[in-house]
Amino acid sequence: MQINHIWWIRRDIRLHDNLALEAACQGADQLIPLFIIEPELMDGAGPRRRAFLLIALADLDQHLKALGSRLIIRQGPARSALQTLVDELGGASIYAHEDFSPFARQRDQAVAEVVSLNRYPSVLYQHPTAILKDDGDPYVVYTPYKQKWYLHPLPTPADCLPAPDHLPPTPENLASLDLPLGEPVVDFPATVAEAQRRLTAFANGPIRKYQSQRNRLDLEGTSRLSPYLRFGLISAREAFAQAHIALLQAKTDAERGEIQTWLNELVWREFYTAILYHFPKVLGHPFREDYAHIPWRTAPEDLAAWQNGQTGYPAVDACMRQLLATGWMHNRGRMIVASFLTKDLLINWQAGEAWFMHNLVDGDPAANNGGWQWSAGTGTDAAPYFRIFNPITQGFKFDPDGDYIARWVPELRHLPIPFRHEPWKLEPDDAQRFGFRLGTDYPQRIVDHAFARQRTLEAYKAAREKK
Ligand SMILES: Cc1cc2nc3c(=O)[nH]c(=O)nc-3n(C[C@H](O)[C@H](O)[C@H](O)COP(=O)(O)OP(=O)(O)OC[C@H]3O[C@@H](n4cnc5c(N)ncnc54)[C@H](O)[C@@H]3O)c2cc1C
Repeated sequence: MQINHIWWIRRDIRLHDNLALEAACQGADQLIPLFIIEPELMDGAGPRRRAFLLIALADLDQHLKALGSRLIIRQGPARSALQTLVDELGGASIYAHEDFSPFARQRDQAVAEVVSLNRYPSVLYQHPTAILKDDGDPYVVYTPYKQKWYLHPLPTPADCLPAPDHLPPTPENLASLDLPLGEPVVDFPATVAEAQRRLTAFANGPIRKYQSQRNRLDLEGTSRLSPYLRFGLISAREAFAQAHIALLQAKTDAERGEIQTWLNELVWREFYTAILYHFPKVLGHPFREDYAHIPWRTAPEDLAAWQNGQTGYPAVDACMRQLLATGWMHNRGRMIVASFLTKDLLINWQAGEAWFMHNLVDGDPAANNGGWQWSAGTGTDAAPYFRIFNPITQGFKFDPDGDYIARWVPELRHLPIPFRHEPWKLEPDDAQRFGFRLGTDYPQRIVDHAFARQRTLEAYKAAREKK
């Protein structure tokens, strides 16, 4: 009898450093690399994330074909798709990487009830249950989590598995759907080669200035690896390993500090995924009960102005337009616009979370929820509620020459630098000289920041008193 192994691909679209694939190849007469198109995942993702995923799968298929295999695509739900496939094969075991979102865990549980499912860790470097307090409870604050995390040794490239040089064959008669390929995502070519190029380039250069440059909106000081990590075109282990090498090669303490900061960001990713694993209620609910009753405003016009980059605050609008145009936004930008939505407009963070989830090419339920709850001050390890970003000073600080604003808000491009940040400060004569009409060429501010700040302080105070 043939031994059939299904490699069920989810967030690990790569052949190298793939524990599930390695296990699936062992002892198999036939290997079936499988992706299931699941409506829950596809419908939640906007066109960019969907396109990234599908193009990454097409790239994987090319690599599989070069090894005499091929990708099989089936339509979900996963449980029935897998049951059907196992029946067609006359029996098969399934190998997959463990995924930690509530949706993925419920799906896998349902699948494991009807077929044999073997799961391997990999989406993270440290499993959520590997980093616990001494009493066995999960951490809810990042810093002690991080300290425990670093008690485990960092990986090196030698710990990462190479891609296999041959694969068991895939049966020829198996039906497979065509991949419904979308428009490529311009800034994020969805291939493993591109992911590795980015990681290598970053680890050989910009990582050494990461801490100093990562907050600048106008510089490319970050790795832009988030979509590749999101879909596993590189593994978390590989990213840690490359940064580890950079750390070992660093010549000064200052350089080590810069690199360490990037490692810490990868640990944030592990932390938020662990939070979602241990506290699935955070999807749809504030982590901190004392903020369950903030009197959020229902303000569809303000929400639409925020979504479309038309708030009248240039730094906010530049960030929101970058998101719409590219499917990505700088981390500092994410913090600025999230603070603006929740604190200046007093609109529920969940509206922002949903907009990001739809539009981000790296949209990830754990990191996105963590980022939104941090910004709203409702999450674990929350920034205190009275820390309210000033959208004007944030712009001056992190885009000092207004270059980022000029790029994404062309209406302001021809204004001298300070007025790119505060176009309302132009004297009428100067505005005329620059041919600029506030309210016509670019919107008036939809809210006064000082007024909004006070309103938010009162709303949060009221929520705490209501507890
Ligand atoms: C409101 C808000 C929403 C966010 N939504 C997402 C999201 O949906 N998906 C997502 O991947 N990140 C999200 N982040 C985190 C962060 O903004 C992005 O990971 C980062 O901007 C991606 O750019 P990069 O790859 O150049 O990051 P780098 O600065 O190079 O960091 C390297 C990697 O570390 C991880 N990382 C960095 N910062 C964080 C963080 N704060 N939390 C968790 N992981 C982090 C990412 O995987 C990132 O690719 C969000 C942050 C905020 C404030």
